Amino acid sequence: MVTPVESQIREISGCNFINNKWVKSAGKLREIINPASEEVIGQFAETTKDEVDLAVMNANKAQREWWAMSALDRANALHKVAERMIENSPITGETLTREMGKPFRESNWEGGAAASAFRYYAEIARSEQGRIAGPAIAGQLQMVIKEPLGTVVSIVPYNFPMLLAGWQSAAALAAGNSVIVKPSELTSMTILLWMKAFDHLPAGLVQVVTGGAETGENLVSHPETHAIAFTGSVPAAQAVAKNAAHRFKPTLIEASGNDAFIVMPSADIETAARGATFAAFLNCGQVCTSAERFYVHEDIYEEFVATLSHLARELRVGSGLEKVDIGPMASKRELERFEKVVNRAMEQGAELICGGKRPTNIKRGWFYEPTVLKVSPEMEVMHGECFGPLAPVAKVKNLDEAIRFTNDSELGLGANIYTNDLEEAFRAVNEIETGIVWVNTPLNDNDAVPFGGRKFTGSGRELGTEGLDQFRRSKMVMIAPKAEADPEWFPYPDQDAFGA
Ligand code: NAD
Repeated sequence: MVTPVESQIREISGCNFINNKWVKSAGKLREIINPASEEVIGQFAETTKDEVDLAVMNANKAQREWWAMSALDRANALHKVAERMIENSPITGETLTREMGKPFRESNWEGGAAASAFRYYAEIARSEQGRIAGPAIAGQLQMVIKEPLGTVVSIVPYNFPMLLAGWQSAAALAAGNSVIVKPSELTSMTILLWMKAFDHLPAGLVQVVTGGAETGENLVSHPETHAIAFTGSVPAAQAVAKNAAHRFKPTLIEASGNDAFIVMPSADIETAARGATFAAFLNCGQVCTSAERFYVHEDIYEEFVATLSHLARELRVGSGLEKVDIGPMASKRELERFEKVVNRAMEQGAELICGGKRPTNIKRGWFYEPTVLKVSPEMEVMHGECFGPLAPVAKVKNLDEAIRFTNDSELGLGANIYTNDLEEAFRAVNEIETGIVWVNTPLNDNDAVPFGGRKFTGSGRELGTEGLDQFRRSKMVMIAPKAEADPEWFPYPDQDAFGA
């Protein structure tokens, strides 16, 4: 039996969202495969260059209309987006689970989490639009006003499509911009159906064009797009940043992470291991802030590994539309890439504690068992981003060693520590070279606090007031109440000449 959501996916297959309507693209169609069943559920289009041009033209027109509105009207419209996103969340949630596999609870959560960012930005954007400086010339009004950048291109990955497009769009729209979203090839239908929440906005203000790298490149290099917000892998981020640099477009880059997870003897081992299980295996390990490498103090190492692997074995793996904790990996390509990571770690001497294979009781779908490995800190698996259900655990002698290994990374998104020792917590916060440090509270975020990384993870910040400023430029404005001659003007007095 076909569910209403499956029918909607078929109806919007091959469409873009242009001027507030789903419109069939003339581009080549590519199959969308449900990773839990391996069935084809729809198609997305490789949007043509002409269609990108049209979307950009619409976006610029709508942006002028949007910015001409009052800040209060914009705020109200964004609150309505949030309400509609929540109403629509069961539909977008089911679509997301069918497209990329995560458990429905997580897919449904995304609708609400994205809505929360819209509510936050709806309010902060109208509370401040620049500042007034103490004048350098008496009696004048001298200030900076904040203006939108124009049309923002939002390029997002498959792992949290609504959350990430939501963070970027909420800030960009609140700042007065229009947005063109380029979803991942793996989650186009989710983002297209998510557009139901936006169709009360001026036509063309938020649009979606589907496709792969080429569609993204056409948007980034387009002379009439004005800023890029990118979330994804490092190589794609580098390509986007180079492309955008040609026209000096402001570019927000949120790329890969390989977050460390330190456990010290003062921590409660059971709680730390439960936190570790969530941080390593949430969304089948496909989270930019997944705990990717564990550094555990030698005094508690064996107990921690035993507890973590016990919890990992208990996780229920299966279709995200059933009562499970972990769904499949998002695509066959991702599963095969991840299998190579685990096999290579074992070739290099990692000891398999649990998992390490596809589940034998599930016959279809791109599933992999939650896997725990005992490793040493120098192994390759501790230096890249595995982006799958893997917890490699290394033993350390002390906190100095844990922090040194944590910082020995080319990526710098987040890091975790479990400790009940305040001094250790302070050291971790101050010495770890990442954009985020979590002490005893993995994976959390807050709309009001900036999120982002260092090193190859990227530049710029989402969320918070910093996230709003990412999509605004400043304009220096000086106003004299009356036009008067300035004593600094010509002619210069002779006594100021050289040698006078
Ligand atoms: P990806 O880099 O393959 O794709 C991301 C997006 O970029 C997709 O929409 C893709 O079509 C597009 N793209 C690829 N090449 C492009 C190009 N040359 N020009 C323009 N667009 C291009 O990433 P993915 O596999 O979908 O997602 C996983 C990655 O995303 C992981 O590395 C993960 O860490 C990262 N990520 C980072 C954050 C963060 O906040 N730092 C959040 C989520 C995911």
